[in-house]
Amino acid sequence: LMHLTRKLIEIRSMLISIDQSDALKLPSIVVIGSQSSGKSSVLEAIVGHEFLPKGDNMVTRRPIELTLIHTPAQNGQTPVEYGEFPGLGLGKMTNFADIQRTLTDLNLAVPSSQAVSNEPIDLRIHSPNVPDLTLIDLPGYVQISSLDQPETLKEQIATLCDKYIREPNIILAVCAADVDLANSPALRASRKVDPLGLRTIGVITKMDLVPPEQGAGILAGNRYPLHLGYVGVVAKASGKKGKKDSMAVTVQRGEKDFFGSHQDVFGASTSLMVGTDTLRRRLMEVLESSMASSLHGITNAVQLELEEATYQFKVQYNDRRITAESYVAETMDALKLRFKEFTQQFRRPIIRAKLKGMLDDKVMDVLEQLYWLDKRAPELGTLGSDPKLKPEDVEPYWRHKLEAASSLLTKSGVGRDSTLLVADGLRALIDSIAAGEPFTFHPRASERLIQFSHMILRDRIGVTSDQVENCIKPYKYDIEVEPREWEQGRERAIELFEKEVTMCETKLKDIRKKVGGSRRLGGLITYVKSLEEKERERKTKLLENPDAESEQTPESYRYPPAQIIDARHAMLYSDRLSILKLRLLALRSKRCRAGPESDVLCPEAFLNVVADKLAYTSAMFINIELLDQFFYQFPREIDSRLLYDLDRREIVEFARENPVVRRHLDLQERKDKLEEVMKQLNSLSTLRSDPQPAPRRS
Ligand code: GDP
Repeated sequence: LMHLTRKLIEIRSMLISIDQSDALKLPSIVVIGSQSSGKSSVLEAIVGHEFLPKGDNMVTRRPIELTLIHTPAQNGQTPVEYGEFPGLGLGKMTNFADIQRTLTDLNLAVPSSQAVSNEPIDLRIHSPNVPDLTLIDLPGYVQISSLDQPETLKEQIATLCDKYIREPNIILAVCAADVDLANSPALRASRKVDPLGLRTIGVITKMDLVPPEQGAGILAGNRYPLHLGYVGVVAKASGKKGKKDSMAVTVQRGEKDFFGSHQDVFGASTSLMVGTDTLRRRLMEVLESSMASSLHGITNAVQLELEEATYQFKVQYNDRRITAESYVAETMDALKLRFKEFTQQFRRPIIRAKLKGMLDDKVMDVLEQLYWLDKRAPELGTLGSDPKLKPEDVEPYWRHKLEAASSLLTKSGVGRDSTLLVADGLRALIDSIAAGEPFTFHPRASERLIQFSHMILRDRIGVTSDQVENCIKPYKYDIEVEPREWEQGRERAIELFEKEVTMCETKLKDIRKKVGGSRRLGGLITYVKSLEEKERERKTKLLENPDAESEQTPESYRYPPAQIIDARHAMLYSDRLSILKLRLLALRSKRCRAGPESDVLCPEAFLNVVADKLAYTSAMFINIELLDQFFYQFPREIDSRLLYDLDRREIVEFARENPVVRRHLDLQERKDKLEEVMKQLNSLSTLRSDPQPAPRRS
């Protein structure tokens, strides 16, 4: 039947990993006792090693789930003893001092303000000298709180212990022989949940400290009867510890000495249970029978849970299984696909049109700066229509203007501006992908995505903008215009001007409405003009006679200042409108339509052709140097920086960031585990019905 306990211990830890609900719990032995009752000494005597944290201060601050796994000798070879902390990944520890240090560290890691943590430490010990047992060591009950411990400590420990001494666990209540049992907090707590002592074993430590007869009296249990009885031990390692002796040997020797020398009281004839060996055997028996009696109930409970999980898995996911890996792979594929779709927005004609738009703005700026603000601008219009005025007469001035305008445009940093424009477009694209699903669930991946795409861009921007600047260089010196290009440029210029006209008219209309009609605006403008006239006069006077006081005309308050500003804007817009209209006339005139030889007279058409050429060349090289490179690198970076970079743990973490996937994985895992447990439980029932269980050394 021993296999049963062992198997059930395994099943117990699987069940714990499935959930913490009481329904799915197999019994364990819970060790409680007040501080200094000898709790640690008893546990160490059972294990045969010193491994628990020691110190004056309370040292067990977290429950220790201690699983003992008996490893039998094979082919005459004694297996190595070792402990491991499954949750920590520290590997096998063959030195028990290391285990002790690790436990101390884990305890000290609990902030002193918190004092006690409910989170258990999982420790497994494999040894040929231990029985198959699970024991849970809990912080000792404190009698008097010391100054540096929180007030609530006593209560915290009691609550923690109460949680563990619930059914189906077996309670190991440790009491010292030299303390009145009436004062034992362990017995008091256990009596509350198990009044008859059906699942409580009393351990009386320090038997050597009271007269044997008194000790025997306690073990007889007449005053506080426990169904499972009391076991008396002397768990303290005796002082004469031989060098080669293991602790177990020394403890046993001390115990044997003591109980041996009091044969009359504790001898075989009495039914009293004494000694660590007896305790061990007793624990094994009790745990085993408790496990055995839990078997039926737990099998039913697991069956029920499994049916529920299977049903839910069918209903919610139609039995579709997923893995963290498949989710990650699908996410990356979807990302690449999404990106590919988006790259359609960066096809060459679209880029060209975008760049042309930017250059059109530049052309307008240049025109404004060099032509519209020029007082001689109207001259240019008449020049085209007035046959009496010979072009040669004004030619040098306007020829020079055109060259200046063209150079202003070609040297305006087209390489940098056009590259940045496209790079910004790419950035915005990536940002929008990174801000969308499923990256809303994966903030770190989203950040990485942005990071590496910006990095690719940073790497390419300098090269690209230099390359573009280089390739448009010829246009800085010489621009040849074909008649067809000219015609297109002229038409485009007309279009742009018409748009500008509409814009100015709208603004004027808005102002008119704002100030209260066109008559009012007319009045305002006349007034502003008169103000300007007066200001001019005042300035001339001031120049002639600097000492004269400048007198304020009360008239300047005739209109509110905001309206005066509106009027000034309106004047600007109407000036702009008249020049735009003049230029539109010119652009539509015969002279402009004649072709590229009219470039001086129609700078708008000419600059438009230049802008077109610049856009074309820029788009071509941005395509080669920036877009192609980016589109090539991006999917590869996804692989290397988002996908291959992840280890198994990170893949699971990533997948679980998505709540939908997490729920799916959780249910699937629960179902799998329950299935596994069920399988093991079923194999146990065949084991139990086996009439001849394999004999095994205890
Ligand atoms: P815990 O605080 O309940 O874990 O108690 P410990 O196991 O640390 O024991 C407290 C003190 O009692 C230690 O000094 C032990 O050496 C001592 N002690 C434990 N068991 C015995 C025993 O059976 N006999 C004697 N004489 N001392 C013991």
